[in-house]
Amino acid sequence: MATHSAHDGHSQRKKGDDPRGSFIEEGLISFNRWRVSRRRHAFRADEIAVICPHCLQYSECTVKILNDATKCRRCGRCSIKDLVEITSAQKVPIYFVSGGRQAIRLLKDPSVKAVVAVACGKELFAGLLRSGGKTVVTVRNVWPHGPCKDTSVDASQVAKAIADLLGRGERR
Ligand code: SF4
Repeated sequence: MATHSAHDGHSQRKKGDDPRGSFIEEGLISFNRWRVSRRRHAFRADEIAVICPHCLQYSECTVKILNDATKCRRCGRCSIKDLVEITSAQKVPIYFVSGGRQAIRLLKDPSVKAVVAVACGKELFAGLLRSGGKTVVTVRNVWPHGPCKDTSVDASQVAKAIADLLGRGERR
């Protein structure tokens, strides 16, 4: 899910490529979106985890956010500033991971009941396959500089996903 490894086909993709997955991958993501939209259960903030790929971080930034996202100095050079501010305001934990294995470990943590997963189509598909039926709201990142480097995400979509899981969003 939220991995940015260049060892699984991403390395063959380049700047400007659409970070969508294959037809099958997109089908599962669409089905999951429909399934999640039918959910009526609200979650507590501490039951939700926002899981994001480390490649969202500005590549020249030296702050170590992998273990503690609050270390972000909020300079605004990358999406992490907004993501940290949104999740701190809602008291929802946010994790930046350097690989899919770490993302899956978080996804499978029994204390995590719902996830907002930020990634490209391929990684979202991989995460959904291992979600075990857990509620996962997917938000796609974008690749203005090519795959796995200085990627970006629309933070308002993450805010909306969190509000929805907390039962504060508009029902679709
Ligand atoms: S917003 Fe945070 S993570 Fe991004 S470049 Fe600035 S200090 Fe680094």
